Amino acid sequence: MKIHEKNNSPSYSFEVFPPKRDGSKEQILSTLEEIVKYEPDFISVTYGASGSERGNETIEICSHIKDDFKIEPLMHLTCAGAGKADIDAVMADMKNRGLNNALLMRGDRREELSEEEQFKDFHHASDLIGYVASKYDIGIGGACYPEKHISSKSVTSDLLHLRTKVQSGVNFLISQFFFDNEKFYRFVHEARSVDIDIPIFAGIMPVLNKNQIHRMVQLSGASLPDKFRKILDRYEHNPEALRDAGIAYASEQIVDLLSSDVDGIHLYVMNKPEIARKISENIGSILKDCKQKNTKQEQG
Ligand code: FAD
Repeated sequence: MKIHEKNNSPSYSFEVFPPKRDGSKEQILSTLEEIVKYEPDFISVTYGASGSERGNETIEICSHIKDDFKIEPLMHLTCAGAGKADIDAVMADMKNRGLNNALLMRGDRREELSEEEQFKDFHHASDLIGYVASKYDIGIGGACYPEKHISSKSVTSDLLHLRTKVQSGVNFLISQFFFDNEKFYRFVHEARSVDIDIPIFAGIMPVLNKNQIHRMVQLSGASLPDKFRKILDRYEHNPEALRDAGIAYASEQIVDLLSSDVDGIHLYVMNKPEIARKISENIGSILKDCKQKNTKQEQG
């Protein structure tokens, strides 16, 4: 089933990544076994990110999610270094495996490639999305950035590029993580004002350690509110306390988002089942309440 055709708002989803070089397939399968207990609407699997270049593993993990756990997978796919023939091959493989949803992105520059090889047939995610949407019958997600993409000159130009991307055939958006909900609300408001009217799922990343956050913030440009900085500074030398505070902070963010009628929560689980467990336990009844309220409203 296509993710955007599921009538289940707000959606609740998880993101995992393929095992790194020293990781095993068993590890990711046992992670999945744990996290499916919290009944996500879909699970997304990253592609060539986090130091892994193993695109084949992404598709295999998606197959497991679908066949073994009966949950809808969302396969991430980037076009950096890929041409039309590469994308056609992935689409054929997805079809054979019955995979119906992809998060289509440009991806980051791949240092090992020459300038011509970098972006062959597709320069922006919108080129890839237009190509796939015109040829294949799948649900298409796109990435969005509440605090603009790190390489964008301005919020306005990023938003206008996002509108072009959506018009190329995106069915739903998943946001970059953020730590200040107000930034997300402003972004959604601005997106709606330029006629981006598809669901926008909020990406939430619980902090695990200070280095992880500084690395992620450097890569993404996400801003750190004072309240969040205080937590990092106060507990940086006590990993357990920092983890608990990080889970509490993310849970509070999610409660606020759900109370503000967000379209969905996409949780960066980072292959740590305890993140999915703790957050799902913290917000379980609230999420259920939102879903019930929306179903009642739809029934009239
Ligand atoms: P685009 O939408 O093409 O945008 C990239 C930049 O180009 C932006 O600054 C945009 O404003 C600009 N732009 C867009 N169109 C035009 C145009 N027509 N003219 C001029 N400028 C334009 N990366 C991975 O490698 N693997 C993953 O699995 C992965 N998963 C992700 C999941 C999520 C939810 C998010 C938010 C990001 C993920 N990324 C992943 C990172 C992503 O690949 C990078 O952020 C990448 O730099 C941009 O990809 P994009 O699809 O957003 O690009």
